Amino acid sequence: MENKYTQPEYGENKFNCPNCGAFSHQQWSEILHYPFYDGGSIDIKSYLREVPQMYELEEEEAISSSINNFLTNNYVAISVCYQCRNASIWIDGKMVYPLLSSAPLPNQDMPKDVKELYEEARRVSALSPRASTAMLRLALEKLLPQIGAEKGNIDNMIGQLVRKGLPKEVEKALDNLRVIGNEAVHPGTIDIKDNANFASALFRLLNFVVDRMITQLKEIDEIYELLPEGKRKGIEQRNTGFTSKQG
Ligand SMILES: [Zn+2]
Repeated sequence: MENKYTQPEYGENKFNCPNCGAFSHQQWSEILHYPFYDGGSIDIKSYLREVPQMYELEEEEAISSSINNFLTNNYVAISVCYQCRNASIWIDGKMVYPLLSSAPLPNQDMPKDVKELYEEARRVSALSPRASTAMLRLALEKLLPQIGAEKGNIDNMIGQLVRKGLPKEVEKALDNLRVIGNEAVHPGTIDIKDNANFASALFRLLNFVVDRMITQLKEIDEIYELLPEGKRKGIEQRNTGFTSKQG
């Protein structure tokens, strides 16, 4: 099933950490209030170096009590993750470090080589939706042979899977992935460059395909294994007496 992902939100005390990805508590601290802000630039890099070490994290109870006071009138704030103890920096209610991908985490059953590309696409998605879309296209190319296609180009591989009886909704998801992914690498008609929506859709589509074609099948196999051996034999015997229409 799809991993639950809670996007970081200003002032929230629990979300998926933008540094380590874990769903964890965050300790919030204010750095600069609006009244003291003189319009000058803020040296984020020095905060990044110094602030995480300055904080000795307190117990869980302390987090919630610290949250209410800091939300109003706060120009620069920091949240520190309880799991990895790394900091996120927020200016005017928006996270500026680390550059956040709003993309969901990869499905746990995503094959390793596909997941590597997915994670890389996730890391660059805030900077370049087009780069991340192109990486997801490559991820799709690697995924298809692992869900039953022979090697070939993406379009052919999808065709092969369709002939093997691919569920309609998966076919649609794959074609969406293919068409949008192609636009990122070939001159096309969709403006991928500045449009994060396409990249964001591809992350969800890829997870959907892995969920339908790997996770759900695995779950059904696991349930099947729970049946008594006699029942399973009976099913297998029935099937060998049939010629399957679907192939
Ligand atoms: Zn973390």
